[in-house]
Amino acid sequence: MRPGGRAENLRSSAWLLPERTGARSGGVKPAGPQSLRPGRGGRHRRVEGSQRIAPQILKIDAQLRKALGAHARLGSSVTQIERAPRLLSGEDPDVSELVTAALRADGVRVLAGTAATCCGADAGKWIEVGSGDGTERIAFDEIIVAVGRSARLEGFGLEELGIPAGRTIGTNDYLETRFPNILAAGDVAGPWQFTHAASHQAWFAAVNALFGGLKRFKADYRVIPRATFTSPEVARVGLSETEAAAEGIPHEVTRYDLAELDRAVTDGARQGFVKVLTVPGRDRILGAVIAGEHAGELIAEFATAMKHGLGLNKILGTVHIYPTWTEANKAAAGAWRRGHVDPRILALLRRFHRWRLG
Ligand SMILES: Cc1cc2nc3c(=O)[nH]c(=O)nc-3n(C[C@H](O)[C@H](O)[C@H](O)COP(=O)(O)OP(=O)(O)OC[C@H]3O[C@@H](n4cnc5c(N)ncnc54)[C@H](O)[C@@H]3O)c2cc1C
Repeated sequence: MRPGGRAENLRSSAWLLPERTGARSGGVKPAGPQSLRPGRGGRHRRVEGSQRIAPQILKIDAQLRKALGAHARLGSSVTQIERAPRLLSGEDPDVSELVTAALRADGVRVLAGTAATCCGADAGKWIEVGSGDGTERIAFDEIIVAVGRSARLEGFGLEELGIPAGRTIGTNDYLETRFPNILAAGDVAGPWQFTHAASHQAWFAAVNALFGGLKRFKADYRVIPRATFTSPEVARVGLSETEAAAEGIPHEVTRYDLAELDRAVTDGARQGFVKVLTVPGRDRILGAVIAGEHAGELIAEFATAMKHGLGLNKILGTVHIYPTWTEANKAAAGAWRRGHVDPRILALLRRFHRWRLG
């Protein structure tokens, strides 16, 4: 962490400072000095994140992707270079596909599975990229490099005090370092880099600093929602389908397509879905991902439900205003419910109504 806030952070994420860059989940991995070097015969161009932005070529991470589509819609020729095999690789493949398709529909050229290898400024500015298909040199006017960032932790005396400080400062469950009167919260404490996670941790750190001698509180990380402000947005809380499968966690998946939601239809924004993971045979939410307009807002209902142990039946039993986007959550809960109706009860009801009708 350095004085100067975000601008400093951004500058430190430029590819020419690889020791200050780091991959966050979903972000582009740092190219590193070996893979990203001045082009042969080319004048070395130092790329700083604080430069004025008028992009023709962008190498960009999740937090800036919304700008990508916007620039393309404004008529710029935009290319996104992503080393991972797909965009948003921290999310499920169906989420990546949706966002990639939306960017392409905006006119962005998306190059996934493609690494930036070198750039130069002889005879115009260019960047060279390589993939399984070979190498390509792409001309650009402006470039944005967003490959993740990490706090600058040396020089504050942490080493002298023996406080572990690699990418983040080592803290315990109470956000205390090995000295209980030195606490850390936010990006420097990790594991997230979200404003809301930082302020959540700040409460625990502040209370523990003030009252730790009497009572300490463990930072509660059970339910931390997050959003990626792409267009359409992607928001998640809890486990994704990919994570549940990788960790061998039994789960059921319920999906509701926003194309069926009246408000999505009237807003002309039918792309996307709500996907909920539940414990098989039980009304317990393991995670939810929403890809679509207002996903960052909609996910709050699932975050509340997970935090307070409410299941999908509670969401289904709550009146949601028609026609709003929030009805998507209720519709997803309804889809889950329909998948769990006991066929014996249905058969019984069918017989009952036939009998009533005579
Ligand atoms: C481009 C970009 C977009 C982002 N978008 C989002 C988003 O949409 N949603 C989201 O949740 N998060 C977002 N983030 C992440 C979010 O900004 C951080 O997670 C959050 O700011 C972390 O809060 P913090 O208090 O830990 O650190 P900071 O907000 O970085 O605050 C640290 C403060 O410490 C000060 N400081 C540093 N060194 C010293 C020193 N030696 N002495 C005194 N003061 C010092 C700094 O000036 C700064 O004010 C984004 C980040 C970036 C870079």
